[in-house]
Amino acid sequence: MKRKVTLIPGDGIGPEVSLAAQRCIEATGVAIDWEIVHAGADVMEKKGTPLPEEVLESVRKNKIAIKGPVTTPVGSGFRSVNVALRKELDLYACLRPCKLYPGIKSLFKDINLILVRENTEDLYAGIEFGEGTPEAGALVQKIRELDPKAKFHPNPAISIKPISKMATERIVRFAFETAIKEKRRKVTAVHKANIMKCSDGLFLRTAREVAREYEGRILFEDRIVDNMCMQLVQKPAEYDVLVLPNLYGDILSDLCAGLIGGLGIAPGANIGDGIALFEATHGSAPKYKGMNKANPTAMILSGMLMLRYLGETSAADRLENAVARVLKEGRFVTYDLKANRNDPTATGTSQMADAIIKEVRSL
Ligand code: NAD
Repeated sequence: MKRKVTLIPGDGIGPEVSLAAQRCIEATGVAIDWEIVHAGADVMEKKGTPLPEEVLESVRKNKIAIKGPVTTPVGSGFRSVNVALRKELDLYACLRPCKLYPGIKSLFKDINLILVRENTEDLYAGIEFGEGTPEAGALVQKIRELDPKAKFHPNPAISIKPISKMATERIVRFAFETAIKEKRRKVTAVHKANIMKCSDGLFLRTAREVAREYEGRILFEDRIVDNMCMQLVQKPAEYDVLVLPNLYGDILSDLCAGLIGGLGIAPGANIGDGIALFEATHGSAPKYKGMNKANPTAMILSGMLMLRYLGETSAADRLENAVARVLKEGRFVTYDLKANRNDPTATGTSQMADAIIKEVRSL
C-alpha cells in the first residue's frame, strides 16, 4: 500500500531541492502517494497567510511530511512558517545528524555528531514587544516593580525566553533515547547557565536529573555554549550527541554543518509524538533561486531520514550509500563541493540528483 506523505516544496531553492529529493526517494521503489501543499511568501500574496490551514491539516492527517526551506522576512513581516509548523504540530525535537562523508573536504576526519535541538520554546517563542510600544513600556514598568534592581536603557525592544522543565525533560530524554538507538556513548547538554541562571539554569538542572535515569548506560556532561563552539571547531571527534535549547541549537547546527562540508550536506528532522516533518538545515538561499545550482544533498538525506523513520531501512541504506558514492567520486557534485566555487565542471541540482538516482538503481 502506498504511504501518504505531505510534501511542502517551500520557496527560494526549496522547489528545486524538494523535487530532487522526491525523485531520489521514488527511485528507491518505496511507494509514496505525495500530497503537495504550499506555504511561504508566494502563498502569503495569494491567500493572505504564509501558512494556510490546509498545510497543517495535511501534516496532521498524514503524520509525515517533507518540506523545502521557506523564507522568513528579516526584522519585520510575517513570522517564521518553519517555527509555526514546529510549534503548531508540537514537533518538539529537531534531530540533525552531522556526518562527514568521504570525498568531502573538511579540516577533520570521522565527524559523526548528532545535534538534538529543542523546537518549541526559548527565544523562538515569538513573544516580543517592539521599541516604544505601550506593551514594552508596561512590561518594563512591571519588571521594575518585580525587580527594583532591573536596569533598562530607554525604550528597549524585548524578546522573552521561556524555558520549561516539561519541554527540557522531553528533549533531553529524546537525546538519550537517540543515543541508545544509535549506539552512541555520550550526551552533552549545552547551555549558558552561568549567566542565565533561571532559564538555562533550569535547562541544565533538568538535564542532569534526566541523565541520572541513564547512568551506567550513556555518559553525560555539559558545556557552556561559547566554550562548546570553540571545542567543536578544535576537536569535534570528542563529542557525540549534543542536546541544546532552541537558539543555541539553531546556531550550532550551522556550525556543525560547516564541519561536514557546509549547509548543502546537512539534513534534519522535526519529530513529535507520532508525527514527523523532515527538512534540511539550510534555508531558502534566495540568491540561487531557479538557477539549478543549489546542492540537493541535504534534502535528499532528509528524505533518507524519512525512509528510516518509516521503517524502510534497506531503501534508506541504498539512498545513503548512493549519496555517499556520488560525494566520494566528486564528479557530479554542485559548486559548493568543488575546491573552487567557480569550477566550470560543477554540476546542477537536477544533474546531481540524476547521478544519485543512477547509483540507487545500481545498488
Ligand atoms: P541559507 O541557509 O538559506 O543560506 C546561507 C548560504 O548557505 C547561502 O547563501 C549559500 O551560500 C549556502 N547554502 C544554503 N543552502 C545551500 C544549498 N542547498 N546548496 C548550496 N549552498 C547552500 O540561510 P540564510 O541566507 O540565512 O536564509 C535565507 C532564508 O531562509 C531566510 O529567509 C531564512 O529565514 C530562511 N531559513 C529557512 C529555514 C527553513 O526553512 N527551515 C532554515 C534556515 C533559514
